[in-house]
Amino acid sequence: MYDWLIVGAGFAGSVMAERLASQMDQRVLVIDKRPHIAGNAFDVLDAAGVLIHQYGPHIFHTNAQSIVDYLSQFTEWRDYEHRVLAQVDGMLVPIPINRTTINTLYGLNLTSDGVERFLAERRVPIDDIKTSEDVVLSTVGHELYEKFFRGYTRKQWGVDPSELSRTVTARIPTRTNDDDRYFTDSFQRMPAEGYTRMFERMLDHPNIELRLATEYADIRDSVKFRRMVFTGPIDEFFDHRLGHLPYRSLRFQHETYDVEQVQPVATINFPQTEDYTRVTEYKHLTGQKHAKTSVTFEYPSATGDPYYPIPREENAALYREYEALARATPDVWFVGRLANYKYFNMDQVVGQALATFERIRKEAEEQDVAPQTSAAQGGTSRHLSGSLVRQKP
Ligand code: FAD
Ligand code: UDP
Repeated sequence: MYDWLIVGAGFAGSVMAERLASQMDQRVLVIDKRPHIAGNAFDVLDAAGVLIHQYGPHIFHTNAQSIVDYLSQFTEWRDYEHRVLAQVDGMLVPIPINRTTINTLYGLNLTSDGVERFLAERRVPIDDIKTSEDVVLSTVGHELYEKFFRGYTRKQWGVDPSELSRTVTARIPTRTNDDDRYFTDSFQRMPAEGYTRMFERMLDHPNIELRLATEYADIRDSVKFRRMVFTGPIDEFFDHRLGHLPYRSLRFQHETYDVEQVQPVATINFPQTEDYTRVTEYKHLTGQKHAKTSVTFEYPSATGDPYYPIPREENAALYREYEALARATPDVWFVGRLANYKYFNMDQVVGQALATFERIRKEAEEQDVAPQTSAAQGGTSRHLSGSLVRQKP
């Protein structure tokens, strides 16, 4: 009998397992259908010995010191600020669009004020910004929208930016200065020995048992547990009884070249040409010294593993129906990107898992004081139906 079954060994499942095991002395079984830990953040040496991210480039960035402090128990960090170039009109220019981008594309020599005027003349006034198209048109106007965003977004998501929530392209700022960093968060570093090593340390606890290559549906009737954390797709948990939530998938093509470096920066985006969206060369991220170099091409796909929830109102509405089912399901906590159908970055998933754990701990403490009172709980997770949470194995 386990106190907890945790489905998924990515950020959501591993943080929950680590906290429950180390802070509440709970006996935890973590399963993952994949043959490895770390979820989509999994990194591994490829055949040439180059450290790659099997599921595409993962750059850690956050403004939350508490999340840095938590993860720093399991890893040291290497400085890294992500930079991305876009291939537009045959040139390589910075994305997010900045002063260099405008000056290079248009053969100008504008100051920051000049860039501001340049954009102001082109912006489309939109009162109610609802879609991803609205966001970009109202910031940079039609031409830059077409060059940088429309094609990339259609390729990545399989729909036009006008059909996507504004939150998607709102991830990308526009700048009038020369800052060419992809992110401006206060903390931008990579785990010094990689993500997988960090997860190994998180899960290395005598209260945690790990079973890989194990699908939840195959063990749910044979394993005994009191409570569960589910980090897979929420519609799958409920056997798609309200219908399928749409996800966007990717096919990752990993390649190794017999030279030290092939790109000037880690990632090059292709908004106008090619079937792939971007190419990432890992040695920029990892700092690895190696005579060869490895890259990943990302080909968006409608079929395959679910990597991205698709932010559209109709999908959010269906998710809310599943969320209502989740609230009515005792003793199961839904944590992470797929379980909440939210386009979370890694730090947001860690933050959600830590907050969920704190609620579990608080309720257990309250139940210790008043064991006959059933606890109520808000947020995205589940209520506790009993008072077993502090019971020892
Ligand atoms: P996951 O990592 O998906 O883990 C869920 C785990 O559950 C998986 O390992 C899965 O195999 C397992 N599972 C699911 N269903 C079952 C089942 N039925 N039985 C058993 N196991 C199951 N974030 C950033 O902050 N920076 C980035 O640069 C960044 N880049 C990204 C690039 C790509 C291409 C993608 C797809 C995502 C990127 N992200 C990035 C987001 C990041 O991957 C997620 O925020 C994070 O990995 C989510 O963690 P999670 O635990 O919720 O989900
Ligand atoms: N985007 C774009 N052109 C780019 C970069 C991004 O159109 O050169 C849009 C696209 O819709 C993308 C979104 O902005 O999906 C968010 O980009 P981000 O790099 O954050 O995507 P992720 O790394 O999550 O795939």
